Amino acid sequence: MPDLLTMRDVSVTYRTEGGDVPAVRGVDLALSRGEIVGLAGESGCGKSTLASTILRLQPPSATVTGQVLFEGEDVLTMSWGDLRALRWAGASMVFQGALHSLNPVRRIGDQIAEPIRVHSPETPDREVEARVGELLEQVGLPPTRARAYPHQLSGGQRQRVMIAMALACRPRLIVADEPTTALDVMVQAQVLDVLSALVHELGVGMLMISHDLSVLADLCDRIVVMYGGRVVETGPAEGVFGGALHPYAGALSAAFPRVGDPRARFAPSGLPGDPPDPAQLPPGCAFAPRCPRAIEECTRAVPELRSFGADRSAACIRVAS
Ligand code: ADP
Ligand code: MG
Repeated sequence: MPDLLTMRDVSVTYRTEGGDVPAVRGVDLALSRGEIVGLAGESGCGKSTLASTILRLQPPSATVTGQVLFEGEDVLTMSWGDLRALRWAGASMVFQGALHSLNPVRRIGDQIAEPIRVHSPETPDREVEARVGELLEQVGLPPTRARAYPHQLSGGQRQRVMIAMALACRPRLIVADEPTTALDVMVQAQVLDVLSALVHELGVGMLMISHDLSVLADLCDRIVVMYGGRVVETGPAEGVFGGALHPYAGALSAAFPRVGDPRARFAPSGLPGDPPDPAQLPPGCAFAPRCPRAIEECTRAVPELRSFGADRSAACIRVAS
């Protein structure tokens, strides 16, 4: 059986007035049926750009190369008809900021029903209504809320509506791009609980994007860490969070300790410095200028992603094999 999602050597370059911005550089990523993979990295590392290619949602200014295979078919070259069939029903997205994604003048029930009506126009109204009620219950909202308008719901409830909408056509893959970053910590935890319970229960695969490695460690089977548009580490969630190989992954773990983790009290308030401008990556390893373990050799060549055992890889010459 083919993997649900296989990305091979994916690169994305934005054409801008200031010149080309190579935001994603040669990324490989695979996700099996029912698996939850976390994509981590600070803001600007290329996570959303990479994710946008899965449903071919990148802007026209972006040039994408490589392959994005969904159930074996390349999304980048498929016909518009196939792409329409893929969106919502094969794979769907949950974005950050439900406030801006929901239509303020339409009842939320109608908005959840829309992808169902588009994909199965022959579905009788009664069935669509029943399905909307079922979806609302699945995300922990009373079915009567179908009649509410977005402004009558809290931020957390609106984000649950976005999750219900993403599940409406029973997709095999959900791409969740920082789905809770805009919410406060308690609400964030509740929404993540709903999301993870549902993907497990329904056997849906998920690519979960977050800058917060501790959130991913709790939720995901595997974690992929990006820096400067490249993958710098991959491995089982607990391994990457608790025992990172790449110094960047280690710094990210320390910057976002689990709530209640004693390390929280000793951790630095954040990672010093900023991630690089993708248009001007430093020579060699892009992390070298911020890396406590960097040596002169690190600045000479981009380190290759090397395997460490069957299920780990890291792109750092300082990690002993
Ligand atoms: P992340 O999701 O990890 O924060 P993004 O994929 O949003 O990262 O951005 C990666 C890089 O691409 C950033 O430097 C960002 O400024 C740039 N970028 C994103 N979208 C565009 C765009 N439409 N045009 C030009 N540059 C962009
Ligand atoms: Mg992003």
